[in-house]
Amino acid sequence: MTSGSPIAPEDATTPVGFSRHDHASCVVDGLSAAEVRCNREGLRFTPVRRKVLEILLQEHRALGAYVILDRLRDEGFGSQPPVAYRALDFLVSNGLAHKIERLNAFIACAHPGETHAPAFMICRMCDSVAEAQSTPARGALGAAARATGFRIERTVVEAEGVCPTCAEKPAEDVRA
Ligand SMILES: [Zn+2]
Ligand SMILES: [Zn+2]
Ligand SMILES: [Zn+2]
Repeated sequence: MTSGSPIAPEDATTPVGFSRHDHASCVVDGLSAAEVRCNREGLRFTPVRRKVLEILLQEHRALGAYVILDRLRDEGFGSQPPVAYRALDFLVSNGLAHKIERLNAFIACAHPGETHAPAFMICRMCDSVAEAQSTPARGALGAAARATGFRIERTVVEAEGVCPTCAEKPAEDVRA
């Protein structure tokens, strides 16, 4: 869990989102926001669902289901794939996590409790992911939808590029 220090130690090998921040509070705040939502909406925040969200919150990087399953097994939560898939289904369908289609992987939501259209910035070098808000209804897509009478229910915005940490790395670190 956390070290008790309010500021997480710098770890150059671990992506911590695209900006420096107090990462310990990402995990603590994320779990407590999820708890509040589940209580308010009568959702069952079971130990395995909580553990999967905690695993996702520990990284600002999308994790594949098999990686999550490995970590669950390490933590003594059993090794049946349906356990991980059902927990991920719960988190995604209740907006506590998102699926990154491009990577076929999952990330904890950065704004649980708010209705939002997420947009993701995905680093193609280190797979770190940052969540932003998209407002497709106000953009060109929204205008096209209104013009044709189409009602948008869901949009997926996934931008691929290079994060600031990778952009700063000297060229000799970049190997194929
Ligand atoms: Zn963080
Ligand atoms: Zn989100
Ligand atoms: Zn990167």
